[in-house]
Amino acid sequence: MEFDTIAAISTPMGEGAIAIVRLTGDEALSIIDKIYKGPSGKKLSEAASHTIHYGHLVDPKTEKIIEEVMVSVMRAPKTFTREDVVEINCHGGLVSVKKVLNLVLANGARLADPGEFTKRAFLNGRIDLSQAEAVMDLIRAKTDRAMNVALNQMEGRLSKLIQRLRQEILETLAHVEVNIDYPEYDDVEEMTHHMLIEKATFVRNELQKLLQTAEQGKILREGISTVIVGRPNVGKSSLLNSFVQENKAIVTDIPGTTRDVIEEYVNVRGVPLRLVDTAGIRETEDIVERIGVEKSRAVLKEADLILLVLNYAEELSAEDENIFAAARGMDVIVIVNKTDLPQKIDLNRVKELAGSAPVVTTSLLEDRGVDELEEAISALFFAGELEASDLTYVSNTRHIALITQALNTIDDAITAIENGVPVDLVQIDLTRSWELLGEIIGDTVSESLIDQLFSQFCLGK
Ligand code: GDP
Ligand code: ZN
Repeated sequence: MEFDTIAAISTPMGEGAIAIVRLTGDEALSIIDKIYKGPSGKKLSEAASHTIHYGHLVDPKTEKIIEEVMVSVMRAPKTFTREDVVEINCHGGLVSVKKVLNLVLANGARLADPGEFTKRAFLNGRIDLSQAEAVMDLIRAKTDRAMNVALNQMEGRLSKLIQRLRQEILETLAHVEVNIDYPEYDDVEEMTHHMLIEKATFVRNELQKLLQTAEQGKILREGISTVIVGRPNVGKSSLLNSFVQENKAIVTDIPGTTRDVIEEYVNVRGVPLRLVDTAGIRETEDIVERIGVEKSRAVLKEADLILLVLNYAEELSAEDENIFAAARGMDVIVIVNKTDLPQKIDLNRVKELAGSAPVVTTSLLEDRGVDELEEAISALFFAGELEASDLTYVSNTRHIALITQALNTIDDAITAIENGVPVDLVQIDLTRSWELLGEIIGDTVSESLIDQLFSQFCLGK
């Protein structure tokens, strides 16, 4: 395939010590030759692959020095895109990196579209679609666990599993063909019927297992949207601060995407909590009081997790009970705070109201009970047993939708076989599920979908 040469800033915008402008394409080396001057005067197009060179960038028009740089030269095909790649390491800071980018663009490169580097890698057969999507997840990973999931996917773990299942389906289809071609052999039909159910059931069970990881996978990927509720003065802000201080809140600002917003994440034992702005307030003071139980229910429903804070040193109030009512049926952790003060709250009543939700007592003032709270949060979402490293997770919404569809189609096939529907009709369902799974790795996807997917990527990746 032939593509033009593209360039983009491939490090996050902002005040990094170093920034990288990356080029890929056939012209990458000839473009750098036009603007690079090294101490030895040697051209970089003659440099060995995977070497790095100190020098200056000089504007060929004005002959003025633009930047002091280190330039990496990587020749096709052993690069991320399988094309010639040049990486210009320059001083961090927006001004200098933009100057370098402009110089590169003025000398023959085109500004890359969002995700275009990864798209090249995909189009040049370096990675499949699910791996390309993993690159994106990796960039956005909020915790080590999320990073592991993305890394596994990038290494092709999900792809391999999907390929294996597609192979199973293909073999099953081959047997159906045999049956259609030789219908006169009774025993073949018998065998086919039996084998069809067996193989289809195997594929179905594998898909089901995969979907069971979807919830956790999605949580790891997107974070748990979390709301802290409670009456004024119970300690909501203190709780937020405690999380933020102990767990290093990760403020993400993803440039070049439509989600150009600042979100706050805290990492609680590998569980990324996304502290969301619910109705404009991250911790909700008197939401129930203000808008009533029913309306606040609707608001709270948006959240995955509700941290409901009570005051140990005060009696339960009608407002507390209303907050419980508003949070009923959702994932709740009850936090009874201010245990350093004399007890006034009726803990038995709290447990009654909490039902199956865990109740944790804390003194945020004295930093007590925070471990137990973190334990409760991680237990709620990992049930203590799942580790990203020993599971193939599926976390991507597009993948989840395709696997669900494939699963339904296989289910249809199994029902059809059991009802004695002619095998050639079963074939249609099986073929469809094979296609659906192919879309995950990009085998049967349309070009417009590919464009759409890659446009969601960060610029320069
Ligand atoms: P919010 O209104 O629910 O956000 O509550 P804040 O976090 O602002 O806390 C209200 C007051 O309670 C502040 O003065 C905190 O210092 C204090 N506070 C928070 N946690 C504790 C605690 O565990 N024990 C005691 N004694 N005071 C606390
Ligand atoms: Zn507050």
